[in-house]
Amino acid sequence: MLCLGIESTAHTFACSVIKHSESKFYPNILSDVRNTFKAPEGSGIHPREAARHHASVAIDVLKKSLELSKINYKDIDLVAYSAGPGLGPCLRIGAVIARSISSFYDIKLIPINHALGHIELGMSLTNSKDSLVLLVSGGHTVILVFTNNRWRVIGETLDITLGQLLDQFGRYLGLASPCGAEIERLAHKSPKNYVVLPYSIKGNDVTFSGILSAAKRLISTSKFTVEDICYSIQETAFAMITEAVERALSATEKKELLLVGGVSANKQLSNMLNLACQRHRVKFNSCPISFAGDNGAQIAWTGILSYLKSKNSINISDSFINQSWRVDSVDVTWRRN
Ligand code: AMP
Ligand code: MG
Repeated sequence: MLCLGIESTAHTFACSVIKHSESKFYPNILSDVRNTFKAPEGSGIHPREAARHHASVAIDVLKKSLELSKINYKDIDLVAYSAGPGLGPCLRIGAVIARSISSFYDIKLIPINHALGHIELGMSLTNSKDSLVLLVSGGHTVILVFTNNRWRVIGETLDITLGQLLDQFGRYLGLASPCGAEIERLAHKSPKNYVVLPYSIKGNDVTFSGILSAAKRLISTSKFTVEDICYSIQETAFAMITEAVERALSATEKKELLLVGGVSANKQLSNMLNLACQRHRVKFNSCPISFAGDNGAQIAWTGILSYLKSKNSINISDSFINQSWRVDSVDVTWRRN
């Protein structure tokens, strides 16, 4: 079975083809092609501009994905697309392309929750079985546990996400979004001069907006270097989320932790979580960096898992996008409690 996955929730338009064979239950990724919208330096993603970008690169990304997979449209069995959560204009581009391919070639259509895509590809690539999951990306900062057929949120940010904290601070410095990787590079240059920033954790929930305001204020005083403030933002925000994860590990008694989402590319975050896992005798898994950020493979793979179990393709007339589609509202039929 061949599934084409289309991702377009935010900055990235991506297509990937995954081949599923009965003999090997592992994502056999035949292609993974992406094209990312670059916002002007100092600005964030403007939904309409990003959608314009996606529309202009979509056909090229799609063609390359099929070429690399050595298949043509008629070979595809399923078209899975990211139906939300995300930016409405961007989601619409992916959905239109998916519907067009589905109706023209009469291929089954499957809407996929984007957050679920991050989790399920991460679980399969790391061979995780029964993990507590930390999803940290541009759109999410959530701690999840699987119970009663759904991934349930047991901790989350109460304001901006970890990715937004890094991106918004980076933009304040005049960097181009997404800024997480550049902030990591700057933080690494600091001789570990820690500047105190607001540390705010409430139960398993965290808030990051205080760190952002304080860091901006410190930059404008010119008392500290940019490198020291980047270092301090990472140390504070990562320690907060690590503490929240430790509480969730204690409460759930899970023996595995899985880290997924674009921010999981950050080495210091992985180091802190890994140390916490060692303290709790928990196995730490992190999604491979090449699949940490948004990609089509996470959508294709979740499409396969979902279709194999439920044969749940939908008619074009029932297809949808949902900008605020919560992951804990989706029934996950293929996973046991
Ligand atoms: P996603 O939405 O899953 O594609 O993740 C994008 C987010 O990951 C953005 O907020 C990026 O700034 C962030 N990101 C990417 N690489 C890194 C990194 N090395 N360290 C921290 N954040 C990162
Ligand atoms: Mg994402």
